Amino acid sequence: MNATRGILVGRFQPFHDGHLWVVEDIVDEVDELVLGIGSADASHEYRNPFTAGERVMMVQRTLEPLDTRVYPVPLEDIDRNSVWVSHVQSMSPRFDVAYSNNPLVVRLFQEAGVEVRETGLFDREHLKGSEIRDRMAAGEDWKPFVPAAVAEVIAEIDGVERIQAIG
Ligand code: NAD
Repeated sequence: MNATRGILVGRFQPFHDGHLWVVEDIVDEVDELVLGIGSADASHEYRNPFTAGERVMMVQRTLEPLDTRVYPVPLEDIDRNSVWVSHVQSMSPRFDVAYSNNPLVVRLFQEAGVEVRETGLFDREHLKGSEIRDRMAAGEDWKPFVPAAVAEVIAEIDGVERIQAIG
């Protein structure tokens, strides 16, 4: 029998503990998981500081200990939402179910006939990419809100200095 494969698409700017919490729930339900690295073409801007490759490093190192196989797949944005799901399918291994809490992403997958399971939000006050980026820019404490492997990658690439320089 074929493995059940899920997909979770996010910008992961950066990959934080809320994303990890969602992934840990999803892997109880699927055999394999595609992590779509959204807005893959964007980097070096305040909302999207990290490149697709840097985000691949973050998720790969963080999720390595999981028993479930995870495939990070960079996904560039395209101009037409109505064909975005076909674009995702053209870049990804086949998947059976999409996970999201983003209303646009949920809607687009549903309209394309893909089964969608909506995920919950965990400590959204702190576990929010914009909040973590603001903390980095302000020189405040952000490490408690990301997995240790993500903090390690951000240190390697001088990520905080990058955000402070472009902010
Ligand atoms: P994100 O990194 O903000 O979030 C990824 C997922 O994690 C979402 O489902 C989100 O709800 C969830 N999440 C975030 N914080 C959480 C928390 N604290 N607890 C639990 N879950 C949490 O990414 P996003 O903005 O949802 O990414 C969608 C991507 O899809 C973007 O890159 C977007 O550009 C892309 N997209 C592109 C098109 C297009 O190109 N036309 C269309 C739709 C979406």
